[in-house]
Amino acid sequence: MIYKKRRQPSEIIGLTALLSRLKPNSLLSKEISSDLAAMRAGLGGEERLDEVLSRHAFPNEHVFLHDLSLKSTGTFQIDTLYLTPSYAVIFEVKNMAGTLTFNENPPQLIRILENGQKRAFGSPAAQIERNQDLFSDWLHARGLALPIYPVIVFAYPKQIIEKPPSNIPVLFPNSVPGFLRRLPKSHTILNSNELSALTKELMDSHAGYIPKPLYEKYNIPIDELKTGVTCKNCGHIGMKRALRTWHCKKCSTNDGFAHEQAITEWFLLVGRKMTNRECRRFLHIDKLQTATRILNMNVFDFRRQFKKSNIHN
Ligand SMILES: [Zn+2]
Repeated sequence: MIYKKRRQPSEIIGLTALLSRLKPNSLLSKEISSDLAAMRAGLGGEERLDEVLSRHAFPNEHVFLHDLSLKSTGTFQIDTLYLTPSYAVIFEVKNMAGTLTFNENPPQLIRILENGQKRAFGSPAAQIERNQDLFSDWLHARGLALPIYPVIVFAYPKQIIEKPPSNIPVLFPNSVPGFLRRLPKSHTILNSNELSALTKELMDSHAGYIPKPLYEKYNIPIDELKTGVTCKNCGHIGMKRALRTWHCKKCSTNDGFAHEQAITEWFLLVGRKMTNRECRRFLHIDKLQTATRILNMNVFDFRRQFKKSNIHN
């Protein structure tokens, strides 16, 4: 049973917005474009695993939860969680081209591309061990203890793993169902009701987790972001407020709801409640009353809006 599906992560929506709102020639453009590309590749890899799992029938009682952001003794993110009455499996999915070598001391992943370019990354093995510890702490804080098995999945078999980590299994998506089937049957820790309660608790905790706003992450002064409502049709930023709608002077599109996207972007970029003044400045509205109406219309409890739309996935 899949309880929590994967959606476009808010980080991708936020980074796309940030890129479009940077001043021309900003020194950060390159870094943000590269982070966005890596995130899109990561999402593609995770979707590849989802696809394999969705084609397979798992006979035992279990739950799949995708893309969970949680907090215990630190914040952590689980790409896929397989939860059963006896144990949990956490998956870290990677989608990287080239030849990959896991070094252990210090923990690093070395990638060599076909053109010979060599680059070092933080080790996914160390990362998933950290997630294992933090998830164990998360369960412990709720009076629970489940064995947690970490697994690293490389999304495509074209990835060459020259030296895998010694202590964590590394799989391609097609071998995941068989791996789960062959895990040793251990004794039952949770009954059906407890498994459901734990699933619900995981989903609620996920919804309560709010990531760091992007201006803070990249250290960009808020004033330097381009303001205005974005036209969905042509991407022009700076639609004009007209009677009950927004008008794009570039492509003549009218869109009564265009401000909603701008408000979502404000939340992802700046991460806090929008004041009337900020609303007028960011959306290019002259009248105080218009801003008040828009703010009221959009239920300005951001935290709730955030949960409801699940934009942070
Ligand atoms: Zn337009």
